[in-house]
Amino acid sequence: MTMTRRDFLSASAALAAAPALGARAWGAPLPREADIVVIGAGAAGIAAARRIMAANRRVIVVEATGQIGGRCLTDTATFDVPFDRGARWMHNPDTNPMIRLGRNAGLDISPVPLGQKIRIGRRNARAGETEEFLAALVRANRAIDDGSRGRADVSCASVLPKDLGDWAGTVEFVLGANATGKDLKDISAIDRARAQDRNAAIACRQGLGALIAKLGAQVPLALSTPASRIAWSGRDVTVDTPAGKIAARAAIVTVSSNVLTAGNIKFTPDIPTRQLDAASRLSLGSYDHIALQLPGNPLGLARDDIIIEQSNSTRTALLFANMGSSSLCSIDVAGSFGRDLSAQGEPAMVAFAVEWLTRLFGSEAVSGVKKSSATRWNAAPFALGAMSSAVPGGQPSRKVLTEPIGCMFLAGEATHETLWGTVDGAWESGERAAEAALRRIGALRDTGPAAPARVPKRRAAPARSALPGARIN
Ligand SMILES: Cc1cc2nc3c(=O)[nH]c(=O)nc-3n(C[C@H](O)[C@H](O)[C@H](O)COP(=O)(O)OP(=O)(O)OC[C@H]3O[C@@H](n4cnc5c(N)ncnc54)[C@H](O)[C@@H]3O)c2cc1C
Repeated sequence: MTMTRRDFLSASAALAAAPALGARAWGAPLPREADIVVIGAGAAGIAAARRIMAANRRVIVVEATGQIGGRCLTDTATFDVPFDRGARWMHNPDTNPMIRLGRNAGLDISPVPLGQKIRIGRRNARAGETEEFLAALVRANRAIDDGSRGRADVSCASVLPKDLGDWAGTVEFVLGANATGKDLKDISAIDRARAQDRNAAIACRQGLGALIAKLGAQVPLALSTPASRIAWSGRDVTVDTPAGKIAARAAIVTVSSNVLTAGNIKFTPDIPTRQLDAASRLSLGSYDHIALQLPGNPLGLARDDIIIEQSNSTRTALLFANMGSSSLCSIDVAGSFGRDLSAQGEPAMVAFAVEWLTRLFGSEAVSGVKKSSATRWNAAPFALGAMSSAVPGGQPSRKVLTEPIGCMFLAGEATHETLWGTVDGAWESGERAAEAALRRIGALRDTGPAAPARVPKRRAAPARSALPGARIN
């Protein structure tokens, strides 16, 4: 049975990459001064810088890697089609500003009509079996929602119905590892229940990394320029980089929660324990793409088909087949299994992908792999993981991260209370931090945010046809 796009994925929520469009190094010497300095040129950093430029203030973005995009990174060198090594889809087409901005910049952005299927061994699930799975998923989501209303926060796993039978492992994968990069036992029920609906998949044909790079093309930024130390106070801030120091009246720090807690950037004085503890409760899960080029459609699947399997273990994956009508297929691994696998290196990841596809489609189907490439986001030194999710009790930490630290403001997906783990959330957090920093330096009147905050849309009420909580990565 083929499911519609709003079905099971609506229930879940690096590197050899060629520099994407617009990526460039700072040609002139690094400026010594700016009104606001932004650390990191991912979605949050680019959004922040654009907002500061729109307010006619001087901004400089320092980025540790050689390209714009952070966890949005389009590889145009490995395959003959763009391969997004990080995020590949946007969500919330009604409210997401990146969609309009990207289209205005000439990029092709459109919804992806994903086909969704479940394999049980070598065959597709029958209609009745798919119904059973969807019902199990709805019950699990409902249980997490109910569990989030208790006195104390608990893990998602602890509130799952105990009678999910043969579908327990698949439900665990779809709602846990695939949705957030973590297993359900490691995720706060409140965080999960508060997550805004993220079921629509909106793609940029040129790649999501290319989109962020294009939106950052006019931003003054210095690539390959890691911030090594930030000296801050209530009045000003100085950022040390290998290319020199930058003095500014405020700073926006967009590095991931794992980078923040790893201590790779020294803060003088230290960042308050309150924020460091908050970041550690919002650590990044593991999510990687193993891309295989399979010419001739040997799996016999349609364009943009998504396949999961009935599985009783965490040793499973999600297949995104024939991406954009190409012969590129991505086998996505996540959670504790994905973390262990990626630690073994790319050959082990590719071997798993081939073995998994063989189990589902037979050895003939995978005998003709032309080229392969796997991401390893946990090992990427300036990301150190995929996307944040809160440990039980950790949901209030997101708000803590938005509190100003002297004249420093944190931004990035982990700081968004409902769109955490997404590009949309990162973008919005960057705009919000920029407005706070602009107010701090007196460039905006203190009358609340200039742009109205987006009204969070909670996950859809549980229904058999729309499975809330699933997520498309
Ligand atoms: C495999 C994968 C798939 C995903 N799929 C999706 C998806 O389909 N849809 C979705 O919405 N989200 C998805 N996500 C999550 C999404 O990519 C992130 O939520 C989002 O890109 C985070 O943006 P950010 O700006 O907060 O952080 P980042 O993108 O991490 O930006 C931070 C920047 O800071 C830089 N930096 C770090 N240290 C320093 C330093 N010392 N000095 C200067 N710069 C520094 C980093 O290099 C980076 O560029 C996925 C993530 C991964 C890994």
